[in-house]
Amino acid sequence: MKEKNIYKTIAKYQNIVIARHIGPDPDAVASQMALKDSIKLTFPKKNVLAAGIGVARFRYLGDLDKIDESSLEKPLLIVLDVPNISRIDGITFNKYDKVIKIDHHPFEDKMGLEMVDENASSASEIVARLIYKTRLKMNKEIASKLYIGIASDSDRFLVPTTTGKTLEVASKLINDYKLDLNEIYTKLYERPITDIRFQSFLTLNMTITENGFGYMKITSEMIKEYGVDPSTPSNLVNNFNYIKEIIAWAFITYDEKQEIYKVNIRSRGPVINEVASKYNGGGHKYASGARIKNEDDIDKLIYELDEICKIFMENKETILSE
Ligand code: AMP
Repeated sequence: MKEKNIYKTIAKYQNIVIARHIGPDPDAVASQMALKDSIKLTFPKKNVLAAGIGVARFRYLGDLDKIDESSLEKPLLIVLDVPNISRIDGITFNKYDKVIKIDHHPFEDKMGLEMVDENASSASEIVARLIYKTRLKMNKEIASKLYIGIASDSDRFLVPTTTGKTLEVASKLINDYKLDLNEIYTKLYERPITDIRFQSFLTLNMTITENGFGYMKITSEMIKEYGVDPSTPSNLVNNFNYIKEIIAWAFITYDEKQEIYKVNIRSRGPVINEVASKYNGGGHKYASGARIKNEDDIDKLIYELDEICKIFMENKETILSE
């Protein structure tokens, strides 16, 4: 059984580094920190380190570690929530004795011992199942982090990767550890009024094509005028789900610091990750991202996304919410 193999491998190694994808979201960080805490709770003498660059708004999930890979003897790497080696944050892949991957994205690179479930809502859901099925230990804090990962990546149990299994594991976490959902949702969803004002601006100004594709190019000036952050559109993109006139949508945001356009794409029908992967991107069938350097590619991406909406509408394929 896969879970037992993973447990045995973790038990065998003294030095363990846990990594996740660059530009992390709550699921990436929550699954990383929850697994780190669980291994430490189960094996207090192990050296367990969390890799990657920190993001201030997820600091409440736990601290990242400074890692000197060359000083670690025969380390084990556990990679969470990322299917490709090039998007793992903060590690040198070939420095590790063994690698375990735990992920819910479509399969890309073989890394080692694989635990991939494309139908899982989140990496946190898989980690929760792993802990429940093995002798890895859990406590209220770990359960709370896992719940945060599951709730956020499933967009509060709205997206189609939410299954009976997702609800079952989420309900078990709540019951077994008496989770305080009000506290959890405050951490996850409390936001400044500027974000909501900016959301209204996007709602009023986004272009919606006759094929049901909604999009908005977000400039640095717009970001500054509303006093928000270049990462704000990615926090807002899920709120544009279940709009009758829109079957796929994208926010294309210029990030001045990195001199790149960050694209968040969502869909409730057309498969978008194949288009995203042509533009330095990828992700899930209905939730993808891309990174674009030149303006021409933005227009090409918009054209291609509109085309897949057109084909989808012409074929009268089923919209996910119907
Ligand atoms: P986001 O819109 O940033 O929330 O990302 C949605 C999904 O697409 C997540 O599963 C990300 O891991 C994935 N994703 C975002 N950007 C990229 C990228 N440049 N390359 C590959 N996958 C990405």
